[in-house]
Amino acid sequence: MEKNKAVVVFSGGQDSTTCLFWALEHYDEVEAVTFDYNQRHNQEIQVAKEIADELKVKHHVLDMSLLSQLAPNALTRDEIEVKDGEDGGLPSTFVPGRNLLFLSFATILAKQVGAKHVITGVCETDFSGYPDCRDIFIKSMNVTLNLSMDDQFVVHTPLMWLDKAQTWELADQLNAFEYVREKTLTCYNGVRGDGCGECPACTLRRNGLEAYIGQKAGVNS
Ligand SMILES: [Zn+2]
Repeated sequence: MEKNKAVVVFSGGQDSTTCLFWALEHYDEVEAVTFDYNQRHNQEIQVAKEIADELKVKHHVLDMSLLSQLAPNALTRDEIEVKDGEDGGLPSTFVPGRNLLFLSFATILAKQVGAKHVITGVCETDFSGYPDCRDIFIKSMNVTLNLSMDDQFVVHTPLMWLDKAQTWELADQLNAFEYVREKTLTCYNGVRGDGCGECPACTLRRNGLEAYIGQKAGVNS
């Protein structure tokens, strides 16, 4: 197993693209894996392909269409509206167990391509409340993955304790601020870059971006 080879769970969004740049900084060889689960916007897969091509990263697209069979939700079914959780509930974009499955498949792929490191952009601080984005889940999963394949994978979560402004800061430190801002797709309505400006994903992204730009201006003045 190659110590300096990594597989990045990659959706073409802000977070996972920042993770891809992080991986390119830290490892000699990087491959990316995107899961196709009939996302509301198949454009997500296209964007991921384009970014991987541009960054000269080998890109795998795995068919996970079974996920929409198991968990019909706003990301996979057009008739379900994208909205934030009400009364502290989970947002309608929640797919139960998604990261459990993604990490399992990404690590099986890592085994096949001889990579020791698996990188995912999950984050406990983004208030979404997804249980399988928590640090404790990732640590538990890492142990389980190693036991299941009798191997020594290391799952990395560079964004785990960052807020959205700090994620922009990390992209900036990796000299990828403009790239991430212009090329990635976070918007639920499928608009690249700064997005539609209306959906919950755009609001979250814009708030972080404005906070980071504000902090940077404060530091420089
Ligand atoms: Zn949007």
